[in-house]
Amino acid sequence: MSGYKGHIAGALAVNAIYVAGVRALPGEMLQRWDLSLQDWQLLIGLFVIAVLFGLFPDVDTNSMGQNIFFGIAFLAEIVLIVSGKFEPAAYLGLLAMTPIVGKHRGWTHNKLAMFLVPAPILVIPYLHNHQVWTMGLLIYGAAVAGYFSHLLLDGLIVKFIHFKGQ
Ligand SMILES: [Zn+2]
Repeated sequence: MSGYKGHIAGALAVNAIYVAGVRALPGEMLQRWDLSLQDWQLLIGLFVIAVLFGLFPDVDTNSMGQNIFFGIAFLAEIVLIVSGKFEPAAYLGLLAMTPIVGKHRGWTHNKLAMFLVPAPILVIPYLHNHQVWTMGLLIYGAAVAGYFSHLLLDGLIVKFIHFKGQ
């Protein structure tokens, strides 16, 4: 049974907490970091990223998460290649390939992977030609939040929470 719906819900919930946490930061701090969460496109982007990374760990098995992830990765590859962004396209390709190396609930369900897999996101501001590293950090946080929600529901963070997912 695929638990993708639960993982989507979990990623949305944990990201909502994350976004609320960022919003709770003092206004002058957000201003100094050049961050604004008033932008709805950015907000939607954060939730999409969280869901994507919330589904990512199950790409090592035949799941709805795998279908969704490879579908999105495939479309993203086309967009990146068409717009001439070959470097991120290469990274995405590499990222998409790696889960097949290993067994289910292998490295993709590792706590270290939660921090390392989304790490390429930290270069996003550089790709957009403005050196606002905080934007990359903000998006990275959403990815880690989504990833964390997956491991949490799989019972890999605390033992007593165990969602019947994959
Ligand atoms: Zn899983």
